[in-house]
Amino acid sequence: MNMLSNLGTEQLQEKDNHFIHPWESMKGLGSNKRTIVKRADGIYYYDTDGKRYIDGPGGMWCVNIGYGRVEMADAIRDQALAMPYCSPWSEANEPAALLAAKIAEISPGDLNNVFLTNSGSTAVDTALRFVMFFNNVLGRPEKKHIISRHSAYHGSTYLSSSAAGKERDKSFMDTDTEIFHHISDPKPYARPDGMSMEGWLEFLVKEFEDKILELGANNVAAFIGEPLLASGGVSIPPKGYHQRFHEVCRKHDVLYISDEVVTAWGRLGHWFASEDVYGIVPDIITTAKGLTSGYQPLGACLISDRLIKQISGDDVPDSYFSNGYTYSGHPVACAAALKNIEIIERDGILEHARTVGPHLQARLQGMKDIPIVGDVRGEGLLGCIECDITNGEGEGDALTLDHEIGKRIDEHCHAMGLLVRPLINMCVFSPPCIITIDQIDEMMDIMHKGVEMTMEDVRKEGIWKG
Ligand code: PLP
Repeated sequence: MNMLSNLGTEQLQEKDNHFIHPWESMKGLGSNKRTIVKRADGIYYYDTDGKRYIDGPGGMWCVNIGYGRVEMADAIRDQALAMPYCSPWSEANEPAALLAAKIAEISPGDLNNVFLTNSGSTAVDTALRFVMFFNNVLGRPEKKHIISRHSAYHGSTYLSSSAAGKERDKSFMDTDTEIFHHISDPKPYARPDGMSMEGWLEFLVKEFEDKILELGANNVAAFIGEPLLASGGVSIPPKGYHQRFHEVCRKHDVLYISDEVVTAWGRLGHWFASEDVYGIVPDIITTAKGLTSGYQPLGACLISDRLIKQISGDDVPDSYFSNGYTYSGHPVACAAALKNIEIIERDGILEHARTVGPHLQARLQGMKDIPIVGDVRGEGLLGCIECDITNGEGEGDALTLDHEIGKRIDEHCHAMGLLVRPLINMCVFSPPCIITIDQIDEMMDIMHKGVEMTMEDVRKEGIWKG
């Protein structure tokens, strides 16, 4: 095993306090005691004390092929030794060329043009910058407005965070509010009491079209949406939503950007979810995470031939898409992605995810019996439990605690050897796509117990009166 130091848990935690983690609470900065993960294998993490945890979130929705793949390490090592870097501005490299062609082959429709980035945020940033560039080249610079949704997450650059719609993430941060507009989170659980699913779908489609008309179709460049809103709480739109939104986009000459940073590479049992699960071929797809299963940082923005044709060739003025990164098409990251795709194909991981996914979803439905659980939802190999301990009240301790309930469930599960990702009053999870039926049962048994223990706590504390 890799030995970088002989330091014990507390000493490492002390050093780690120099690392400002994503979404770091400034209040607690310098005094955190995070679990230090030392090694990982299959679906399991092991901490510095040797304690084993099921990795419920699959890293961060990304370790699709699981941990400890020696052949991945070999591919990364071999490429690092052969040629670790060359400039994507002036040279081409074999892994990036092979990867771009492979992505074009397995992606839906005419999405054959692949811009390689460093992450999901930079893939989304690239998509949004491309859309602006596209309209400038076509001589319609006013067509710039972007429509997104509340609860969406699209990344952490200025543009991608402006597209995101999680209000809490915007506190104390500046984002663009001139060209970005947000419509409803489509999760059926949020629909008004008594409204049918069909009614909800009609409401959402009308809201979207009304927003385009309000802004003026000539001013609206694109809609950006995750096929399902993952880190916003696994919001799954009603059936038919994607196709209806796609039709509205086509009708008003608005581009459809499908943000598949989470939903691609087997998470929903397919290479990409847009077409195979939801029946649409978008104009642009952004992806990352499972593209390398987290073994290397890499993202991609896939652009359709239809768009590229309009701004290239002899009949249009020459233009430069001045967007890119030192590490665009990084050879080592691309070699990891190629190996990842090879493993997914060889081991039948897409088929496996389609086989075991229904079991995970059935076990998730079983959590509904716990009285503090308000809603459960999921698709493929991801899911969410949403709790409600507000006793039907709009304020008070129960509501305050409702915002913490995910954290409490996570603490109980953590003690029992399962990591779940707490999110306000929810827990979301997306285990490695290699998870077996037995391991799903192990994970869901612990989660069930963790939610029940949390319920007992809030009952004893007199906060929940169920
Ligand atoms: N888009 C979606 C849908 C995501 O879930 C994420 C990250 O969770 C991103 C974009 C940003 O990706 P990254 O964190 O790799 O920049």
